[in-house]
Amino acid sequence: MYPLSFCLTSHISYLISHISTMRIFKFGGASVTDAASVKNVAAILSFFKNEPLVVVISAMGKTTNALEKVVNAYYNKEEGLQQYIKEVKDYHAEIIQKLGFKNEHPINGELENTFVEIGWILEEEPLRGYGFAYDQIVSQGELISTRIVSAFLNDNGFKNEWLDIRDILQTDNTYREGKVSWDITEKLVKRRIPELLKKNNLIITQGFIAATDENFTTTLGREGSDYTAAILSYCLDAKEMIVWKDVPGVLSADPKFYDEAIKLREIGYRDAIELTYYGATVIHPKTIKPLENKNIPLSVRSFLAPKDAGTSIGNYESTKPLVPSFIFKANQILLSISAKDFSFIAEESLSRIFGIFADHNVKINLMQNSAVSFSVCLDNDSFKMPSLILELTRDFKVLYNENLKLVTVRHYYPSTIEILTKDKTILLEQRSRNTAQIILKD
Ligand code: ASP
Ligand code: MG
Repeated sequence: MYPLSFCLTSHISYLISHISTMRIFKFGGASVTDAASVKNVAAILSFFKNEPLVVVISAMGKTTNALEKVVNAYYNKEEGLQQYIKEVKDYHAEIIQKLGFKNEHPINGELENTFVEIGWILEEEPLRGYGFAYDQIVSQGELISTRIVSAFLNDNGFKNEWLDIRDILQTDNTYREGKVSWDITEKLVKRRIPELLKKNNLIITQGFIAATDENFTTTLGREGSDYTAAILSYCLDAKEMIVWKDVPGVLSADPKFYDEAIKLREIGYRDAIELTYYGATVIHPKTIKPLENKNIPLSVRSFLAPKDAGTSIGNYESTKPLVPSFIFKANQILLSISAKDFSFIAEESLSRIFGIFADHNVKINLMQNSAVSFSVCLDNDSFKMPSLILELTRDFKVLYNENLKLVTVRHYYPSTIEILTKDKTILLEQRSRNTAQIILKD
């Protein structure tokens, strides 16, 4: 016999998973970068008016970068702090004004409150470390963005519920890279979202941010709003997740780097995971797995051409059209790590090296070992690298090479690689059946 409460919750989740016809949308910063784009969000939502929708929204435009400047100035006690804050505030005030809100509309007070709250945080000494300060401040971008969009929609015929995602999305206290506490999150999402949908079939909430069990704000890592939408999709057994972007879908390369990029119509989950893992920035790397687990399709569609089909990521055998896909990662650093006494780099040293990478929360983009050295290619993060290298040099000899580019090609032909590397200095190259990776001097 199970206790009654267990039967009830499992019964409710059974119901949810079988009646779920819900879609989860995600709008990134570029889709809410000014008044015109916020209006465009409303235009897109008008196509979906009669169905339950949960809409995840990022900070407006480049607000996250601007708030990072605020955090850095605060943490390093630099000048310019007040100016940086003012820029963020003025930017939002202008959008509010251009959206036609009157001076007496409560949204103006909400903008004020946001900055009063930021002021309070900045008054204290950053005793709990950089990551903590970062998350408390940077998260305000998503909070104010969703307040503005929600208010605009409410006033324009799209009645909606504004939800503080921190009430339902819980992580551990790895600030800047919160690890989701799935059990509690799933319970909270399954309880709260249907409750809100009963009031209104449109919910507006934040991407990227979450909270610890002590109610401190955390973030999921840069560009993490896609992941938020995937977490909600998973917990709600959504029928589809749609990411609205400023590109027509997933392209075979970033057009900034490669002008022959073409749109991929269908991508299998596996391929999508690989592409994002290697650094395709179109979708946050953690997004696909939760969707794949429940077989929820993900569409990447253009907010500029909302009727176009975009790219569908799902349970497909293979990607269509099957052409080489390129992922370019600039600002790479190649570390070559060897023992101080010229001994071999064996399992024991490798395990110590991996431990150091894990402690510093550094992701390895490519690695290769020889008898006496271990080479790794990493994003040259100006915050993480100095302390990582310092710690490695306690036990090892470390040489490094900066300003490199890492190119990954999925489904390559030998000729693709030849063209790509012509007249370039190759520092390291690795090929498997489906994937080639090359480190080039930039
Ligand atoms: N606003 C956050 C960022 O710019 C999260 C996101 O956009 O997905 O990184
Ligand atoms: Mg963004």
